[in-house]
Amino acid sequence: MADVPACPRCSSSDTRLIAESPLPGVWEMYGCNHCTYLWRNTETLEGIETITEEEIEAAVLDFPPPSHGGFFR
Ligand SMILES: [Zn+2]
Repeated sequence: MADVPACPRCSSSDTRLIAESPLPGVWEMYGCNHCTYLWRNTETLEGIETITEEEIEAAVLDFPPPSHGGFFR
């Protein structure tokens, strides 16, 4: 299994593999335990908005109910 990269949004290395494509090796989905960001390794992450520690805290506290399952709440 490939190493899980650091979070592109907050640079935390506290990340994990969330899911893999049904066909192996097409994509992997990663999640950041720190700021709850989710991304796939096929996404272009250049120019992504990074956030500060204060914004992470606010986002985690005000995280809306998930509309597509719910990994976090
Ligand atoms: Zn993060």
